[in-house]
Order: sequence, then structure tokens, then C-alpha cells
Amino acid sequence: MKPYDPIFADTPGTGLGYPGSYWTATSGPVPADDGVAPVAVDTDIAVIGGGYTGLSTAYHLARRYGRQVTVLEANRPGWGCSGRNGGFARMAFGRLSFSDMVGRFGRDGARRLFGSTMASLDNVREMIGDGAIDCDASEAGHLKIAPKASRAGALEAEAEVMRRELEYPAEYLPAAQLQRDHVGGTQSHGALRIPDALAVHPLKLSLGVLRMARAAGAAVHSSSPVTAWQKNGATHRLTTPHGIVNAREVVIATNGYTPTALHPELRATLFPILSHIIVTRPMTDAEIAGSNFITGHVMTDVRKLMFYWRRLPDRRILFGGRGLIADTPWRNANHRDYLLRELIAKYPALDGITVDYDWHGWVCFTRDFLPRIRRATDDPTVHYAVGYQGSGVSLSLYAGRLLAAQIADDAGEAGIDAARLPLARFPAHALLRIPQRAMFYWYRFLDSRG
Ligand SMILES: Cc1cc2nc3c(=O)[nH]c(=O)nc-3n(C[C@H](O)[C@H](O)[C@H](O)COP(=O)(O)OP(=O)(O)OC[C@H]3O[C@@H](n4cnc5c(N)ncnc54)[C@H](O)[C@@H]3O)c2cc1C
Repeated sequence: MKPYDPIFADTPGTGLGYPGSYWTATSGPVPADDGVAPVAVDTDIAVIGGGYTGLSTAYHLARRYGRQVTVLEANRPGWGCSGRNGGFARMAFGRLSFSDMVGRFGRDGARRLFGSTMASLDNVREMIGDGAIDCDASEAGHLKIAPKASRAGALEAEAEVMRRELEYPAEYLPAAQLQRDHVGGTQSHGALRIPDALAVHPLKLSLGVLRMARAAGAAVHSSSPVTAWQKNGATHRLTTPHGIVNAREVVIATNGYTPTALHPELRATLFPILSHIIVTRPMTDAEIAGSNFITGHVMTDVRKLMFYWRRLPDRRILFGGRGLIADTPWRNANHRDYLLRELIAKYPALDGITVDYDWHGWVCFTRDFLPRIRRATDDPTVHYAVGYQGSGVSLSLYAGRLLAAQIADDAGEAGIDAARLPLARFPAHALLRIPQRAMFYWYRFLDSRG
């Protein structure tokens, strides 16, 4: 069987179970959804995709604006990235660093955009509170770590830009302070500390938003991939394996799992990339003492192929990274071993630690590395939010709120100008895996240098 790759597949599957992740093993009972889509449905708004973006759109449309919404999810609610990510809810807008924001949009534009990323994190806090979602959320903070001494100066400068231009209390932690107060090891050469970030259980969060959407009146159908889409006059006609859904407006919330042929506006505009996570067995006292792995912060490093990691509440380490190109069992096993080697290279005191869980998912890149939350250019009744560039926990939940406001013409929600730019197509989209391989080798080479 050919490995699944969203660039070539018609759907991400039908009715597939959750991956064998640490999150699946610890999420507790999965709440009910509305089962498969019936033979015939007429709805005000159809939402394609049941992750954070789709469920949050449905929740906000139903709860705030009293609209009738039907979510169509190919597999299960939260089955995509939303139920399998690292659980770092951060302030982020695609791949832009905060100093990039200032360079690109000027001081005022950067402040507005940074304000939106703060609003996205506040929205996560608000939704967790409103839905009383038990998702092991903690106010963790984020450490962006220099893995080499030569990378520390840029982080110190970034902290300074955030304080001066954005008036945000970012801190720079020199190596000694980082190693004493947070985490030791061989690659802790200083860090930018951003106090606002949450650590969450991502699948519990997805299932919490599922409950909220249904309680607000939205219908959420699982095992219901949209396999064809036509427009008859003002009505969108979506085909699922079980029947037809007629809708006045449609939201595309399929992100990295978007089938290339789903809608012409998105054709060849998205570049899905695999991200892989390992979760170790719980650390022993000696391993914690040897690595001084005491921080509750979520962590990323400044590399082209960035690693992300955190200590979990039960003393395990979650460690993730990109670099894998094809989703085959052999390559996945290699990548699991590679991630473990890189973890131990950071923290030699963990030599001998074993991996209890590993899994992966498809994150979504765009040509300019910026997310989109907008209406389709040629059809104002089609809306989408895509391209979170692997940092979408906060932004996708917020995108759902903004899409709902867009549909309801609620001028009270300002939206994000930078997310409204038209999407550019990738040339030779079907061949992208070839340059990606070369690019990843090049990135690894750059990351290995000083
Ligand atoms: C391993 C990994 C780690 C990550 N870690 C982090 C992190 O720590 N912090 C962070 O901010 N971000 C992280 N991300 C990214 C983040 O999880 C995503 O940006 C976010 O979850 C996107 O949510 P979504 O609802 O847009 O998409 P998804 O959750 O991927 O949902 C899309 C859904 O669409 C469905 N679908 C696709 N096609 C169809 C169709 N034709 N019909 C019906 N349904 C369809 C799919 O089945 C899928 O469930 C990570 C991602 C991965 C894979």
C-alpha cells in the first residue's frame, strides 16, 4: 500500500482510529459525536474538518451567533494534528520571529500582529475556562534555547526587541541561569524566556471543544469525509460516503490534511510536512538530577530543523522534530531512533532512557510561511484557515473564532490583516518532495555547524 501523503491522497481516510500516542493512552473516555453524516442534510454552514479550527468555528458560530452548523470530519474529532501535537499553546504567527514581525510590518504593524498572537493565547485560556475543559493545562512559559553558544546573541537581541518595540516582558537567560533554574545538559547556551505559554493535553483539549460545540447546538459527524464538492446556484453540495450535505456557506478546516482537489482556491498552495514525537519512560531521580531537567516550560531550539520538547506531568519527556519525508514504518522507526539520539545528545544523563510512545502528523506550510484566515477570493461563501506552520494550537482555536465572526459579519472582531493575503501556489507542487529532501539535508548541515 502506498504511504499516505496529503499531496496525493483524496481524503485522509475514513473512520480511522486515533494514533497510538501518549495522548490517546491518557485521554480517558472519548465523548460522543453525532455519528456519520445522514443521507441528506440541509445546513446553514458546513465545516470540513473536525480539529481545533473546525470545532472552534462550529462552537463560536453556534454559541455566539446562534447559527446552524454541521461539522464533517473524515475520521474522528481531533484525529488530525489537534489530537497529536506537542501541547504547546504559544503566541505564534507562522514562522515569524517577533523581531521579524517588527522588520516586516514596522513597529505599529508588529504591535497589532503581536497583539493578535496574545489574543489567540487568551482565547485558549477563555475556552478552557468557559468549557471547564480538564486538559492538564498549566501556565508553563516558553524557553527558546540556543543549542550552541554562537546562537545565544540573537536570542538576547530578540528579547531586547520584544521589550523595546513590543513592550512585552521577555527575558534573556544566560547559560548559567538557564542551567541552574530550568534545564542543564550540553546544549543549553542561553534562552529567550517568554512568560506567556500554556502546556496542555492536546487531545483532551480537542475533545473538550467537541463537547462545547455540541452543547452549543452544532452537529459533529465523524467518519464523514467530503469526497466531492459542487455548487448549484447559491447552494454548496458536499458529497460524503453516506449522502449529500447542502450548505449556504462552507468552512475549510482541513489544514495539513487538505486533499489537493478539495477546492480550487487551495490547489497547490499548501505544503504538508511530517512532524514526529517521541515520549520516553518516566525519568528516574538520578536522570533528573544528572540533567537538572526541572523546568515546567515548553522548549524549542533555534535550528533550521527545530526540536521541541517538554517534561510531562508524570516525569516523561516529550521530544519532537521534523525531518521525515515519507510516512513508512521503516522511516518512522529510523526517525524515532534519531530523535532519541538527539535527546540524549542534549542530555547525556538520559543515556539509557527508552521510548514508550512515538507518532507523527502532518503540519501545514505555505509559500510565504504565513498562516491564512480568510474568505476565498472568488466565492465569499467559502472560508478557510490553514497554514499554521506547525505552531497552530493557539492560532487555530482563535482562527475558528475569527472565521465565525467573519461569517456573522461581526465587526467587533478585528481579524488579522496579515492572514488575509491571497495564497501563492507552489510551482511543480506534485514534485515538492524532491527539493524537500535536498533542503532537509542542507538544513541538517547548517544546523551541525557553529
Ligand atoms: C506532531 C505534531 C506536533 C505539533 N506540536 C505543536 C505544538 O506543540 N504547538 C503548536 O502550536 N502546534 C503544534 N502542532 C500543530 C498544530 O497541532 C496544528 O497547527 C493544529 O492542530 C491545526 O488544527 P486544525 O484543526 O487546523 O487541523 P487538524 O487538527 O489537522 O484537523 C484537520 C482535520 O481535517 C480532516 N479532513 C481532512 N480532509 C477532510 C475531508 N475531505 N473531509 C472531512 N474531513 C477532512 C482530517 O481528518 C483532520 O482531522 C503540531 C503538529 C504535529 C503534527
